Amino acid sequence: MAKYIFVAGGVMSGIGKGVAVASIAKILKGKGFRTTAVKIDPYINVDAGTMNPVEHGEVFVTEDGDECDQDIGNYERFLNENITRENYITTGRVYQAVINRERNLEYGGKCVEVVPDIPNEVISRIKKSASINKADFILIEIGGTVGEYQNMLFLEAARMLKLQKPKDVLFILLSYLPVPSSIGEMKTKPTQTAVRTLNETGIQPDIILARGPVALDEPRKRKISIFCNIRKEDVISAPDVKNIYEIPINFEKENLGNRILKKFNLRTRKDDLKDWKGLMNAVNSSEKPVKIGIVGKYFDSGSFTLTDSYISVIEAVKHAAWSLKRVPQISWLSAEDYEKNPLLLRELKEYDGIIVPGGFGSRGIEGKIKAIEYCRKNKIPFLGLCYGLQLAVIEFARNVCGMKGAASTENDSKTPYPVIDVMPDQEALIKEKKMGGTMRLGAYRCKLKPGTAAFRAYKTKEVSERHRHRYEVNNAFREALEKKGLVVSGINPERNLVEIIEIPSHPFFVASQFHPEFKSRPLFPHPLFREFILVATKN
Ligand code: GLN
Repeated sequence: MAKYIFVAGGVMSGIGKGVAVASIAKILKGKGFRTTAVKIDPYINVDAGTMNPVEHGEVFVTEDGDECDQDIGNYERFLNENITRENYITTGRVYQAVINRERNLEYGGKCVEVVPDIPNEVISRIKKSASINKADFILIEIGGTVGEYQNMLFLEAARMLKLQKPKDVLFILLSYLPVPSSIGEMKTKPTQTAVRTLNETGIQPDIILARGPVALDEPRKRKISIFCNIRKEDVISAPDVKNIYEIPINFEKENLGNRILKKFNLRTRKDDLKDWKGLMNAVNSSEKPVKIGIVGKYFDSGSFTLTDSYISVIEAVKHAAWSLKRVPQISWLSAEDYEKNPLLLRELKEYDGIIVPGGFGSRGIEGKIKAIEYCRKNKIPFLGLCYGLQLAVIEFARNVCGMKGAASTENDSKTPYPVIDVMPDQEALIKEKKMGGTMRLGAYRCKLKPGTAAFRAYKTKEVSERHRHRYEVNNAFREALEKKGLVVSGINPERNLVEIIEIPSHPFFVASQFHPEFKSRPLFPHPLFREFILVATKN
C-alpha cells in the first residue's frame, strides 16, 4: 500500500521545495522503494504552457506531452525516470474535471460543493498516480506557501487523506531561517509562525526541513522542537549548497530517510547514494572551465536576473560538462543588446560555445539571428534548440541562400520566404483559437543520417525526443537550403519533418527542432549536449 508524503512550504517561496521533494524521492528510491512525485500548482491555468517563462519559470515537457512545472524536470533528473501527466495537478485541472462531471450528471443530482468535492478530486488524482506508478512512496509537493489563499484546498485534501489513512500519510514542512545581516543570528520566528499557520488548517508537520544560508545549530534545533511541537531529530538542517545534487547526500547525513521510514513504522534501511557520491567527487575534482554563453530573453525581472526560464538547458550543460571533467561556466547574453549594439557580438568569441534556446514571438529574434550568423562565420561551436533551429534556418536562408526577408510566419505572415511555417493541422487550431496544449508536444521519432555530427553524437540510427512548438521547417525550401550546404541530419519519418540541421564545414553547428535538454540526466548527459561541449572544449 502506498505511503503519502505531503511537502508544503513555509515563510517564503523559492527556497527549493521541488529539489527537496526530488531529493527525498531519490533517497527513498535509493533504499529500494518504488517512489514517485507529484507536483500541485495552485493556479487556475490548466497547465504551465500558457504562461510566460518570466512569470513561472521554464515550461517542462514530459514524454507524453504534458506542459508542466519545471519541478517535474527536477523529479525526472533526480529519480532518473520519466514522469507522466498524472503527476501534475493544477487548480485548473481539478475544477475542469469536477465541472465536466457535474455537466455529465455524474453527481446524481447532488449539490456540488467546493469542500469536499474539490479536495476529493485532488485525492483521487493523487491515488491514481500512486496506483499507475505502483508506488511504495508518493511525494506530493503543494505549490505556494502556507497561509496563502490559493493552496488552501490542497492542504484540505492532505488533511482529509490523513483522516482516511492515518497511518499512511506524513507531512513535511520546508521552512526558511533567515540570518539578517543587521543581527547576524539565525531567526526561528518565521518558521514558528509558518507552523502555526499550518496548524490552523488542521495539519501538524511530522518533519521540518530547515532551509537557511548556513546549517542549523543545536540551540535552534531545540527551539524549533519546543515551539513547533516536533522532536529534535525531526528538524533537518538544509543549508545552502553549491550544487543541488548534494542535497540528498546532506539530507542523509541528518538521517532523513530512516526518520521517514520510522514514522511509517517501517524497518530502517541503509542508504544507497553511491552513484551520486561518485558524481559529486567527479564534479569537485574537475578544474578546467568550459565557457558557454546562452543567448536568450527570458531572464530580466526588474533588477534581477532570472535563470529559471532555462533551467533544463542549464542542467544539461552541467551534466555534459561534468562528464567531460569540466567546470561549466554559463553566462547570460541578452539577444536584444545585439540588436541595439551589433559591436557587442564580438564578445561571443570569448566563449567556447554558444546556445540559442527555445522561445516564442518576435522580441529579441533579430539579435539571436545576428548571434547565430556570428557563430557560423567565426566557427564558434553553436547549439540551437527549437526556436534556435528555426532562427538558424532563417539566418542561413537570408545570408547564404540570398532569400532576403526570409522569416517564420509566426512573426511575419507576409514574408516572401516563409522558411518556417505552420502545418495545416496547426493552422486550423490557430484559426479556432485553440491554443492551450495544442502544440506539437512530447516524444516523436527522429531518424538520423549516418556520417553527420548528430549521428556521431547519438551513435545510433533512430532516437526519440521531446517537442514543444507550433512551427516547422517548410519542406518547400528544403532543397534550396540543402543545395547551399545545410544538412538535414534528422527527420521525423511519420511526417517527413526536419528534426536536426547542421553545417558540416563548421566545427559544430547543430540545431534541433526538439528539446534535448528535457532528457538530460546527471549521470546520463544528453548526447547532443555532450558532443557540443566536447567540441567546445577542443576549440
Ligand atoms: N516559437 C517556435 C514555435 O512555436 C519555437 C518554440 C520553441 O522554441 N519551443 O514553433
